[in-house]
Amino acid sequence: MTVEQFADRHIGPDPDSERRMLDTVGYGSVEELMDAAIPEVIRWHGRLDLPAAASEQEAIAELRALAARNTVAVSMIGLGYHGTHTPAVIRRNVLENPAWYTAYTPYQPEISQGRLEALLNFQTVVTDLTGLATANASMLDEGTAAAEAMTLARRAAKTRSNVYVVDADTLPQTLAVIAGRAEPLGIEVRVVDVDTDELPAEFFGLHLQYPGASGAVRDHTALVAAAHAAGALVTVAADLLALTVLRPPGEIGADIAAGTSQRFGVPMGFGGPHAGYLAVRSGLERMLPGRLVGVSKDAAGDPAYRLALQTREQHIRREKATSNICTAQVLLAVMAGMYAVYHGPDGLRAIAGRTHGMAARLAAGLRAGGVDVPDGGFFDTVTARVPGRAAEVVAAARARGVNLRLVDADRVGISCDETTTDGHLESVWAAFGVAPVSGPVPAALPRALARTSDFLTHPVFHAHRSETAMLRYLRRLADVDYALDRGMIPLGSCTMKLNATTEMEPVSWPEFAHLHPFAPAEQTAGYRELIGQLEGWLAEVTGYDAVSVQPNAGSQGELAGLLAIRAYHRDRGEGHRDVCLIPSSAHGTNAASAVMAGMRVVVVGCDADGNVDLVDLDAKIDQHRDALAAIMVTYPSTHGVYETGIAQLCAKVHDAGGQVYVDGANLNALVGYARPGRFGADVSHLNLHKTFCIPHGGGGPGVGPVAVRAHLAAYLPGTGADGRPAIAAAPFGSAGILPIPWAYLRMMGADGLARATGVAVLAANYVAARLRAHYPVLYAGNKGLVAHECILDLRPVTKATGVSVDDVAKRLIDYGFHAPTMSFPVAGTLMVEPTESEDLAELDRFCDAMIAIRAEIDKVGAGQWPVGDSPLSNAPHTAAMVSADDWPHPYPRSVGGYPAGVDRAGKYWPPVRRVDGAYGDRNLVCSCPAPEAFAQ
Ligand SMILES: *Cc1c(COP(=O)(O)O)cnc(C)c1O
Repeated sequence: MTVEQFADRHIGPDPDSERRMLDTVGYGSVEELMDAAIPEVIRWHGRLDLPAAASEQEAIAELRALAARNTVAVSMIGLGYHGTHTPAVIRRNVLENPAWYTAYTPYQPEISQGRLEALLNFQTVVTDLTGLATANASMLDEGTAAAEAMTLARRAAKTRSNVYVVDADTLPQTLAVIAGRAEPLGIEVRVVDVDTDELPAEFFGLHLQYPGASGAVRDHTALVAAAHAAGALVTVAADLLALTVLRPPGEIGADIAAGTSQRFGVPMGFGGPHAGYLAVRSGLERMLPGRLVGVSKDAAGDPAYRLALQTREQHIRREKATSNICTAQVLLAVMAGMYAVYHGPDGLRAIAGRTHGMAARLAAGLRAGGVDVPDGGFFDTVTARVPGRAAEVVAAARARGVNLRLVDADRVGISCDETTTDGHLESVWAAFGVAPVSGPVPAALPRALARTSDFLTHPVFHAHRSETAMLRYLRRLADVDYALDRGMIPLGSCTMKLNATTEMEPVSWPEFAHLHPFAPAEQTAGYRELIGQLEGWLAEVTGYDAVSVQPNAGSQGELAGLLAIRAYHRDRGEGHRDVCLIPSSAHGTNAASAVMAGMRVVVVGCDADGNVDLVDLDAKIDQHRDALAAIMVTYPSTHGVYETGIAQLCAKVHDAGGQVYVDGANLNALVGYARPGRFGADVSHLNLHKTFCIPHGGGGPGVGPVAVRAHLAAYLPGTGADGRPAIAAAPFGSAGILPIPWAYLRMMGADGLARATGVAVLAANYVAARLRAHYPVLYAGNKGLVAHECILDLRPVTKATGVSVDDVAKRLIDYGFHAPTMSFPVAGTLMVEPTESEDLAELDRFCDAMIAIRAEIDKVGAGQWPVGDSPLSNAPHTAAMVSADDWPHPYPRSVGGYPAGVDRAGKYWPPVRRVDGAYGDRNLVCSCPAPEAFAQ
């Protein structure tokens, strides 16, 4: 027996199980199965050139060495990234707790009440602090939130102007993201100094920063009125901590607020991940992009949370979509919300007061020493004028271990935060060559802008202030949710595989957690090496030439890739090419991204086998030959099949002058066996939160690197200033979680990765083989095989018995499972993706449950149970329901609560019955409901 490799831990089935699974599927070995499943035209027979697999201990040691090459300095750079103390109870019980980080997006509300409540807390924090009516459950970062605010303003504005006005005191990286998003949409961004410049005569929106990047706190009331008079909407990008002491945007008539909640207990992480936010005034809530948590009721009439207004989601809107955001930043929004729960309004006010006190004393010391600090109010940041000496001051501070912001040759920016100490101020004063100041100094907040309104008055922000109470609150919420730490989450297209503890550990190390994204390069050598290696390994895995990890979700990688294609055509004098072909089976983000990249979406049909219809493709190419920019296909297709026509498809599009985008969300079926960059594609995004083990976090974070062939390398994301579009606010996006895929690749090695792919495909085919007799498997490819997932067709059953796909999904909860992906990509079906990480016992438990459910459906079909009062229609069953004195149903309680094969001792009980989504959409409530709502 050899020493266990990490791959043996990551991959669920052992060799014996593998043999039994192969027997069921009818193959002698995984290689034989893969030879049959994967079309030879795309098959790659090489071996990935990656370092030999490291053990968990070796990987941690290497990561420690990389971490040691980063320098954790005191960060006073500001620009929307601040030092913060993550309460240890939140770090350990949320960030480091698989009950939170391995959960999926709460599309199945009955098993997600804990994280939905946590997100509702987050939304309440944002609405209370901004003074606006409705906030969503997080955005990817401040820059992208501000860009979404721009497009929202354009949709809602009364004027048809295409001019968007941006305050010159906006965070530079926000401006870069706004500019990058505006250009393909034909929006003209005009930067104005709001202190001195006139507003243009016509514009559809105005973006203001509050406080400004310089630290200045301005009264924007008159600007808001002027913008409204012009028919424009106003976005205020506001600092949430400052809003505890400053008049909120909603109280001066702002329509939209955007920003980040990073400084609410979420480490900077060299740029991310953290939760951006977006809030709107009343009347705009139905235009708000992203996911929105709301209150509704369950089948018993009790309050229950669920995602509201889901019909707006990109999955359905496709080319009519206005935003492509899908994966957001749930885990980080949970942390920020809990930070507010833990501190309460008075605690937050105290943190803000202390932070401001530091900044005020800093400014007083500088002024006393003769340094020019402009008059006017500020919150936590001051910009000092030291003509010609700025670089020297910044260097002197750095020598003392403090990073300041070099604004230009004459100005230095200094930001205080919750972690600022007297010692830090002394270092800064010394760097400026001025004497320290001690004792309190007068506040520098403009009195007229002081906040007078209450916030966070809801009991949740007062009830969990001791650590014991907080610990129990977190435990209670986690306990009502279903995550990978309870059982399988067989979600097709989502690849819910193991998120190994060793991969997760480095995320909270200070050397990775506490770096500012604009820290000097010499302090971030470890990060840069890690990122360089990761990009190189991902290029090797995909067969592409260059990779950028900047996009902080798959959707963002899509946009980055399409913008690269657009720029490529333009540089070749073919800027008129603007048609993007997208198969009807595509994920909704594809079409939405194409629209955001300024392209026209043309849908290509699928044939009866679920493959891209090559005849229709020919027709669409003929029709749009001169305008063809790209095709966007998922491979293997969203139907879970290795299409044999892929090479032909690529050739046809290339012949017509178009580029081929392969959506890499399904890369788990390819790694080690086929490389999109070598079988005809020009660009792909990957989802590191699917294939490469970043946990889903309940709906984020994610990382969506974009990978390109050499001819597109010059168009990869940048910072705006370097001539490349900024896709995210930070240069390396959500760098803080990149140690996860790094560790996965490092510990799996070439052979482990290929084995994982083989076992993932074997597991999907095993499930298909076991369930085929009970539910038709909708599509199959070569030799009747599926790829890494399979679609179970419920439509015949629904037609015959009235039992819906929803009923089956909810009944699976009673059996102790998270439902597979529902009604995507085909309505009325379930898409199952078991992944390589589930062992045979769990795969069998799932198959047995599906087979038992089929028998229950048959009883409904036979008339034994009425379709409207069966274990299926009443699912999921709560403990309260089956233990109630009253049991009016035609089947025994035990059938409802303890269906066949369920472990009675370890049974998962959902806290609510089936949630009525429509009710909540008609009665939209998106912040914490009054506790009376829960009174029995
Ligand atoms: C998950 C997924 C996406 C979107 O990725 P996000 O990270 O959620 O933005 C795009 N395409 C496909 C096929 C997917 O499965």
